[in-house]
Amino acid sequence: NFLLALFITSSLTPTVGPSHRPWPEELPEELQALDIGPRTRIDPDVTTRSSTDFGRLMHALPAAVLYPSSVHDIMTLVQFSYSSSKPFTIAPRGHGHSLRGQALAPHGVVIEMTSMRNGGCDGEPRLSVSPEGSYVDAGGEQFWIDVLQETLKYGLAPRSWTDYLYLTVGGTLSNAGVSGQAFLHGPQISSVYELDVITGKGEMVTCSEDQEPDLFFAVLGGLGQFGIITRARIALEPAPQMVRWVRLIYMNFEAFARDQEKLISLDDGKKGFNYVEGSILMHHNVGNNWRSSFFPERDLGRISSLAAQHGAVYCLEGARYYDKAMVHMVDKELESLLEALSFMPGFAFKNDVTYTRFLNRVRDGELKLRSQGLWNVPHPWLNIFVPRSRIIDFDRGIFKSILRHDNSMGPILIYPMNRNKWDRRTSAVIPDEEIFYSIGLLWSGVHAWEWLEDQNKEILHFCNQAGINHKQYLPHYTTQADWMKHFGSKWDIFVERKRRYDPKALLSPGQQIFTSSM
Ligand code: FAD
Repeated sequence: NFLLALFITSSLTPTVGPSHRPWPEELPEELQALDIGPRTRIDPDVTTRSSTDFGRLMHALPAAVLYPSSVHDIMTLVQFSYSSSKPFTIAPRGHGHSLRGQALAPHGVVIEMTSMRNGGCDGEPRLSVSPEGSYVDAGGEQFWIDVLQETLKYGLAPRSWTDYLYLTVGGTLSNAGVSGQAFLHGPQISSVYELDVITGKGEMVTCSEDQEPDLFFAVLGGLGQFGIITRARIALEPAPQMVRWVRLIYMNFEAFARDQEKLISLDDGKKGFNYVEGSILMHHNVGNNWRSSFFPERDLGRISSLAAQHGAVYCLEGARYYDKAMVHMVDKELESLLEALSFMPGFAFKNDVTYTRFLNRVRDGELKLRSQGLWNVPHPWLNIFVPRSRIIDFDRGIFKSILRHDNSMGPILIYPMNRNKWDRRTSAVIPDEEIFYSIGLLWSGVHAWEWLEDQNKEILHFCNQAGINHKQYLPHYTTQADWMKHFGSKWDIFVERKRRYDPKALLSPGQQIFTSSM
């Protein structure tokens, strides 16, 4: 039997590292004598660096940090903990871009996966493209930007992305990986052919839909609970050269949502957009977030005054891929696409960019915020999936009510996806409706963030009171009842798979789902 989620919340609170550390009592001393000993660091500088994440809301010191030089190092560590009389928890940490401590290991060992990013010591390439097979084998520690750059050398690219590319393959596949291509190709976890996984018992298993399918589907969207992804075989498609990228402004939410849904139903990708997203531009926030650089100054002024008059406007974002030789076609196609939509006349904005620049579009905003000291600040984000049938209620209750008069900073994303592009066998959890919306409230808490957390609670409270059957994406819960509710009908199999693949509950403890052996 096992205890769940009554996690050591107290261990995920602000901590101060000691200035000097003897060997930590949580770890067996024999660890030092293993060949990974020299790459297992306990000095406070190092443990402090791995004690928080992008969210900067949670802090928890690990007892040690492993910088693996090969996949073998990771196996050694997990096998050692699993067979020890004093097992310790282990968190693979990708780029640490979680929001609420999901990649932390309080008193355990963090594996800094990116130390293998430039190749392991065993000479195995960590990124390898098969043009014949149309796939790439990517190490779990690889950044998506590196996957893109490598695959483009062959004129190929993955088809499903996240908005931001400085995230790792293992990190996003443990969640789902969604962006504006998901309506067409599903999340990133729908584009994986095969995985190498080190289970919580320290066993290396190659799995796919045909080979060890149970582990394969467990790991995809599995929040790091069943194994450490060391390689993913990811489907590729021919990469386009250029992107015609449009943003269309709406004052009316119903029209905005209707048009988004119309666009995601053109799902052959030949006539419609290859990418569909959307955002809410609040009056105070139009020109001041990492997505604003799309608009020239002059247009920002017009949109701002429209948003000021109405409190907020809705911005549909679409992208059509093309090759330079087809440039004469793309305008015509776009024109007929736009004709069928009901945005505000005079409020259609276009950009023409390379495919790489389009996919890497958040980077410019990041660099700008970094230069202003506004990137490494608390991020009390809330990401939820909302069923289509309740999206109008969500707009009324949240965008037009709770958020209407506040000054929260950061992009607010909203776009629909098709459930039939998600494989039900994975661990990922989505609402039970054909179309559901991804909503990202990507707050920056520059001066104070506590009130934003209160606002997030108010939003969730509203959804619960109104009976909106939403699901959190990048979920964060601290009680057993909440995790059970989150997984719903998938809970029993989630627990069963944990028992099978990580019976000592060693892996990714920062998710706060399982806290002791099964
Ligand atoms: P980490 O935060 O390091 O880890 C996440 C979880 O996965 C942890 O539990 C960790 O233990 C586990 N894990 C890490 N590596 C492995 C591995 N190799 N094997 C098994 N488990 C592992 N998400 C989207 O879907 N779409 C977006 O557009 C998007 N944009 C984002 C933009 C920004 C600026 C940020 C900060 C986040 C964004 N995210 C987005 C969220 C992002 O996908 C998650 O935060 C993801 O977990 C971050 O990846 P990471 O590599 O930093 O993982």
